This record gives sequence, structure tokens and C-alpha cells, in this order.
Amino acid sequence: MKQLRMKILGFFTLVLVLFTLLFLFLFSTILERQAIEQQGEDLQSQLLTLSSLLVREQFETDVSQVSEQLSQTAEVINERITFITPDGEVIYDTRAEEGTLENHLNRPEIQQIIQDESVIGTYDRTSESTGEVLYYAATAITDDSGEVMGFLRLSKNVEEMAGLTEQMIQVLAVFMLISILVALLFTNYWTKKISDPIEKMKQLTEKLSDQNYSSRYTGSSYGEIDDLGQSINLLAINLNQQMQEINENQTRLRELINHLIIGVMVVDNEGHITMVNPVMNEVLGEDLHSKIGEPFADALHSTTLVELIEKTIAEKTIQNQETELFYPKEKIVDANVVPVFNQLKETFNHIVLLYDITEIRRLEKVRTDFVANVSHELRTPITAVKGFAETLLDGALKDEEALIEFLEIIYKESTRLDLMVQDILQLSKLENHKVHAVVQTVRASEVIKEVLKIVHQKMDLKNQSFELVEELPVKLEVDRDQFKQVCLNLIGNAIAYTPDGGKITVTLKETGNEAVLVVSDTGVGIPKESQARIFERFYRVDKARSRNAGGTGLGLAIVKWLVENNNGHITLESEENKGSTFTVWLPLHKED
Ligand code: ADP
Repeated sequence: MKQLRMKILGFFTLVLVLFTLLFLFLFSTILERQAIEQQGEDLQSQLLTLSSLLVREQFETDVSQVSEQLSQTAEVINERITFITPDGEVIYDTRAEEGTLENHLNRPEIQQIIQDESVIGTYDRTSESTGEVLYYAATAITDDSGEVMGFLRLSKNVEEMAGLTEQMIQVLAVFMLISILVALLFTNYWTKKISDPIEKMKQLTEKLSDQNYSSRYTGSSYGEIDDLGQSINLLAINLNQQMQEINENQTRLRELINHLIIGVMVVDNEGHITMVNPVMNEVLGEDLHSKIGEPFADALHSTTLVELIEKTIAEKTIQNQETELFYPKEKIVDANVVPVFNQLKETFNHIVLLYDITEIRRLEKVRTDFVANVSHELRTPITAVKGFAETLLDGALKDEEALIEFLEIIYKESTRLDLMVQDILQLSKLENHKVHAVVQTVRASEVIKEVLKIVHQKMDLKNQSFELVEELPVKLEVDRDQFKQVCLNLIGNAIAYTPDGGKITVTLKETGNEAVLVVSDTGVGIPKESQARIFERFYRVDKARSRNAGGTGLGLAIVKWLVENNNGHITLESEENKGSTFTVWLPLHKED
């Protein structure tokens, strides 16, 4: 700002000085010219008067008489008087000795009279004889017949003539100088009054650009400048508000992205990773945060994903593909890559969205498998019921023995059908959380005794022995019906898959915070290769045996679901033809 002030001051000074000099020069020239003209005119009238006063008769005969006349006149008037003969000889001059002067015929003022035939010839020039700047006025002295008798010339020092003008100019110059100084003082004051607040505003805008929005303009100057300062203050307030909003939005956006259940990654125009949310790390099973700034092709392990991003970069179109990931775990993801144009930088960002749909796809498969299995499982008893009913209608009805046998089969199959539908419905209700659990403290041995009342007939039929081992009373907080269902299914299976005369043992105990229920039998056991699949729906080691035992293939699936839904777990140990042991762990206390 100082520079600007100095420039304005310098400019004003220069302009004022130049104008003053120009003015003084023009003024002095005009004034001088006017003074010369004015005094020239006076000199001319003096010349004419003098010329008329000259007594011609006296020097018609003796030209030297003229010198006498003129020297007398010269005492009266102050000007230099010269008399020149028609052939140019100076016979009288107030300031120089006659005879010492050169021929004056060619002097411009004389030539003017001779050539232009004018009454007065004038000229101003530096006198060769005296060296002064002189104004000359000459006129011809004629006799009565008009014959030129000589030339009378008056001359006056121009500097003398302009002396008055010079004084005037000096006074004027002093005035001008004073006005320049006053003008500069005022200019200095005004420029300071303008430049200081502008300097403050400049500093303020610099602070604003450094994101310091608390600074304000406080100067006082002319109205318009203060208005500008107030506008900048308003701008600072608005910027502050906008910045706060931007920060809030950014925080909100960051929180949103960080809490999305979808993996988000941003790849810039050069293919470098610029942003990753935590879910993206989870989905891809690696820390991509540490790879921000690296090329995505180096950071990602899935070639399909890399190709998908490359395609988006090349074609600038949205790409969507269900992609299988193999590293570090097998996963199915729904991958979307969206190109987003950045208008500010005129480049593209590419947003990679990964949605882990492994569980969805698994559940879909479970559901379709379940539907297929249900249809398949239901078809067997339905076909049997239908087949035997048809056979009876076709005539077997009359054979009493066959009638009873067929009706027994129909009854058995329809009972199985009923059991199966009941199990399917229960499983479906459990999975859809339509069963309302009522948690209460349950004495485990009491539940076992209730179960025994239901199954003792079957056990008796097979001559099986039963033992309940419980060193200390085991009490747990659980839904009684659900716990009973678990016990019933496990003890029911132990009875079903243990031959006649076998033994079933139920042990109840507590370890740490858990209640442990162990159901072991001396039955057929489960082959090693089937043990991992035993809890799958409709999985049966021996379908025929299961069917004969009235099984549905859903019992263990229900047990597993109930146990795990109560924060417990179940394990199996079994050896073929020796027996099986199912162990259930359930928390003693229901967590809040
Ligand atoms: P099911 O209604 O067929 O018994 P489950 O789901 O209860 O269906 O059991 C699945 C399969 O596991 C049974 O078909 C059977 O082959 C096997 N299994 C279950 N419990 C035992 C056991 N205690 N001993 C031997 N095999 C068993």
C-alpha cells in the first residue's frame, strides 16, 4: 500500500510540477510577448512623434545637423536613437560612436521599410554592437517631395521591457510552489486516509484466505471504503458459517461412511487409493488404510475387482458385478464402481462399493435346498399313503389281513408326515423369531424327568436302561419349553438309535458359568464322515433306519438352533457301534 501511496504522491507531484512549469512558461511567454508588443507600440508612436518633430530643413543641407537635434531629444527620452542615411551609414547613435558602426542598410527593420514600403519597420534581435536583446522600430524621414532623407530608428532593451513580467512570474512561481506544497500535503493526507484502511483490508483478506475467520475490519475512513470493510466483515461471517457447515457436513459424511455396512474406497484419476472406510478393510480382509496413496492394482488381490475398476476408469461408466473373492477368505461381494466427475479439478474419482453378500447367498442356498428337501421328504410319506389307499380301493379292501396291514402303514406314514410338518413349522417359527422365549430359572433334572415320562414307553419297549447323574443340583436361566425340546430330541434320538437292551445316560453338571447336559448312549454310533453334517436339516446317516425310528431329519437341526440361540454350543463324540455322546453347554445366567 505504501508503494501505491508513493506512486500517487509521485504522480501528483510530477503532474503539478509539469503543469506549473508549462503554465509558467506559457504565461511568461504570452506576458512577455504582450509586454513587448505593448511597449513596441509605445516605441512606434514615440518614433512617429520624434520623426514629425525633426526639422527637415536643417539637415536637408547638412545632415550632421540631425545628430544635434537627436542628441537633444535623447536627453529627454530614454530610448536609444539611431539615424541612418539612405545608403545605410549610421550618422547618429545614442549608445555607439558614429563611424564605428557597420552599414545598417540590410537591417531587417530598414529592409522592411524599403521593400514593403511600410511606414514603420520593426524587429527584435540581439544587438551586435551592445549585445543586448533589443526591440527596433524604424521609419523613413522624407522631404517634401517624398525623397528619403534617412531612417530614424528607436530601440529599446527587451529585457527591460519584460522586467515587469519577470517579477510577476516570480510572484506567480512562489504562489504556485506554495499551492503545490499545500496540494501535496492534502494529497498525502487523503491517500493515507484511503491507503491505510485498504492495507488493513488486504491483511484481513490474507487472514481469511488462511482460514482465520475471526478477524474483522475496524478502521474508519470514507463512507465507501468503510462500506467495503463492512462487506468484507460480512463475507468473513458468511465464510465462517459456511466453513462450519462444510466441517459439520464433512464430519457427518465421514461418520456415515465409517458406519456404512458397505465397503467404500475412492480411487483418483491416476488410480491411487485416496480413501477407505473400515468396512472395506473387513470385506477385503486386509488393512487398506496403510495403502492410501498406492495404486489400487498393487493393493488389491482380486484380479476381477482390479479389472472392474480399470474398466470404469477406461469407459467412465458405472460397473456392477457379483464378484467372488478368494483372498484371504472366500467371499461373494456385490461390487459397484461409480465414476464421479470432480468439477473443481476437472478429473474423475472412482467410488468402489463392496457389499458382502456371502451370508445372503448362503441363506438363499439354504432356503432353496430346504424347499427342495422338504418337497422331497414330504413326497415319500404322501406317496406311501396315496399308494396304499389306491391299492385298498382297487380291491385289497376285501382282504382283511392286507387291509389292517395297509391301514397301519397309512397310519404310520401319516403320523410321520404330521411329525415332519410339525418340525418344519417349529423350525420356521424359531427362525422367524415368532416363538416368544420366557426365561426362568429351571432345575435341569426336573425337565429330564418330565421328558422321561414322555419317552419311558419307548425305552421300556426296547428294554433300555436309563441313568441320570447329577452330583449337585443344576439350575439355569432358560426358556423351559426350549430346554425341554433340546432334552427330548437328544434323549429321543439316543433311544431311537440304541438297540434293545442298551443304556442311556444323562449327566448334569456345572462348569464355570455354564450348565452342561451330556446325553450318551451305547447305540449304533455315527460314522466319522457324517459327524460334521449331522446337524444339517434332513441329514440322516441311514435314511431307512431313521424312517423306521419315526425320525424327520430335523431334530438335531432344531437342537442346534435352540442351543446357539441361547448363547450355548453343542458337540458330538461318537464311535460306530459303540455309542454317541452329545454335550450341550448353556449359560447359567441369561445375559441382559
Ligand atoms: P432324525 O429325525 O432322523 O433322528 P435328527 O436330526 O434327530 O433326525 O438326527 C439326524 C441323524 O443323526 C439321524 O438320522 C441319525 O442318523 C443320526 N443320529 C442322531 N442321533 C443319533 C444317536 N444318538 N446315535 C446315532 N445316530 C444318531
